[in-house]
Amino acid sequence: MALAEALPGVNLVGGEIVRLPRAHPGKLFGSGKLEELKARIQAEEIELVLIDGPVSPVQQRNLERDWKVKLLDRTGLILEIFADRARTREGVLQVELAALSYQRTRLVRAWTHLERQRGGLGFVGGPGETQIEADRRAIDTQMVRLRRQLEKVAKTRELHREARRRVPYPIVALVGYTNAGKSTLFNRMTGAEVMAKDMLFASLDPTMRAVQLPGGLQVILSDTVGFISDLPTQLVAAFRATLEEVLEADLIVHVRDISHPESETQAEDVESILDELGVANATPRIEVWNKADLLGSDDPRLTVAARTPGVFPASALTGQGLEEVFAAITETLDGARTIASMDLPYSEGRARAWLHEQGVVLSEDPGEAAMHLTVNWTATQRRRFEALLSEPAVKSDDPQSS
Ligand code: GDP
Ligand code: MG
Repeated sequence: MALAEALPGVNLVGGEIVRLPRAHPGKLFGSGKLEELKARIQAEEIELVLIDGPVSPVQQRNLERDWKVKLLDRTGLILEIFADRARTREGVLQVELAALSYQRTRLVRAWTHLERQRGGLGFVGGPGETQIEADRRAIDTQMVRLRRQLEKVAKTRELHREARRRVPYPIVALVGYTNAGKSTLFNRMTGAEVMAKDMLFASLDPTMRAVQLPGGLQVILSDTVGFISDLPTQLVAAFRATLEEVLEADLIVHVRDISHPESETQAEDVESILDELGVANATPRIEVWNKADLLGSDDPRLTVAARTPGVFPASALTGQGLEEVFAAITETLDGARTIASMDLPYSEGRARAWLHEQGVVLSEDPGEAAMHLTVNWTATQRRRFEALLSEPAVKSDDPQSS
């Protein structure tokens, strides 16, 4: 249950496979298993039970009551992870929308079950049906409202990027499948909690951290929400919205579990989603072939990695190969500095201030219509500056507060 560990605060104490030749409609498990699990839950003071399979709302309610725990099925867990990781207004709305549509289907199933029971007892139709209709209508109304908000948010999406762009260091985003080793790499790179108290970044969320690479380059490292195999289709939009932050990245580090039998397919998934998000060619990318410690030293994959530019076999666990990864990040972000001259209109005061913040201005010479500037910058800084120029200034109507 690698997925479970993606939810902060979850301390996984164990798991087991339960064969269910016949799922009990009311409580999922047979009575023997129910008692056995209950004893374990009490003995180990378990508060959360995850079931990797379908659980009906009725089963959920009964088990939660019997075991005195919170219970989530797979979709429920993924929704929790996304809700925890959604940062943009759009991401939050998309996750809420997915949660509602999930609730809506469960509502139907819950009542189908109850109605059958009622039918047996002679209460056909009546209050049950009225209630389900009312609940369904309430959810539909809420979904319509969310969709409208989403339309508005998409238009003002740029405001958020603008805020990110003011972060003075290049952003490095770790992407990849859940369990590939992103968090392990993130923790290794950021080391303990050293930078956590840094005031400048206190406002950033815990999955973003300022890091100084061995060569001295400062970057913001961002641990993104992981790809999940067999993602329920109703969650796809929410997943994409949650991953949108990679659009802000100056460099994408694709972390792959190279020891995984489906590593190739997973990599294709990641690439195609990144393409669909629109990060295709704009953002430089490197691949870390992680968990190389699990391969034999004569494994052909290591030979392939050595031959392929932009690919680095490494182990986030043992640290092997990471120096090369850090060097590649530095090289990509800070490699060639170039000197450029430009005439910057006086109306671009914001962009000019940004150049000064970055410490790249070599000289400034006021002209009639524009400021003549000479700068010494990296490719990343040039890209960020150009993006800053092409954007409208931030307006006062902040969508976050609406
Ligand atoms: P994430 O879902 O991508 O954030 O993956 P995690 O960082 O949580 O790692 C998932 C599991 O893989 C954990 O049990 C890690 O200890 C393990 N892991 C991560 N990197 C390596 C590695 O380089 N080698 C080995 N053998 N295991 C690793
Ligand atoms: Mg992780």
